Amino acid sequence: MAAPDRGLTPPRAGIAPAKGGILPPIINLRPINWFFDVNRAMSLWPVTFGLACCAIEMMSVSMARFDMARFGAEVFRPSVRQADLMMVTGTVSKKMAPAVVRLYEQMPAPKFVLACGNCAISGGPFKFEGQYGIVEGVDQLIPVDVYVPGCPPRPEAILEGVFAIQEKITGRRWWPKAEEIPS
Ligand code: SF4
Repeated sequence: MAAPDRGLTPPRAGIAPAKGGILPPIINLRPINWFFDVNRAMSLWPVTFGLACCAIEMMSVSMARFDMARFGAEVFRPSVRQADLMMVTGTVSKKMAPAVVRLYEQMPAPKFVLACGNCAISGGPFKFEGQYGIVEGVDQLIPVDVYVPGCPPRPEAILEGVFAIQEKITGRRWWPKAEEIPS
């Protein structure tokens, strides 16, 4: 069966987007899928990958104060072949774009992308008429699962983005919302 079309926008500025998609599992039994999905969602392995200032927020979210380890996503991997979550944190320059595509394609499926910050979402403050060096949204290159706006987004917002990825994998939210926590 053909991989689903994940709706990549047409390439611009001559940069080819990532090829292919995620093939359906060979064994497709709902209880088994649920078991694997829950385990997958609770042990996301992000790739150690930062492009600009938003990467500082990604670093802080993994440290003691915000402690992403509480939610199972702290094992940053130096190789994309061991990672299933790419947080695109920063400005995607056209010079860097082919490397972003290559890294995404090298990640094993199933894999997830979090566009972190306004630059990764739309070009952010570098989007203006006549600019020639910036990709105006990483979703022109690779499929994005969750967008976290901000310049930069707060670490709490990045955590919410990780929760949204977990919800996308399992179909339910696992952690209480801020307003549900008694003060
Ligand atoms: S969104 Fe703002 S903080 Fe993030 S990389 Fe762009 S300019 Fe830097």
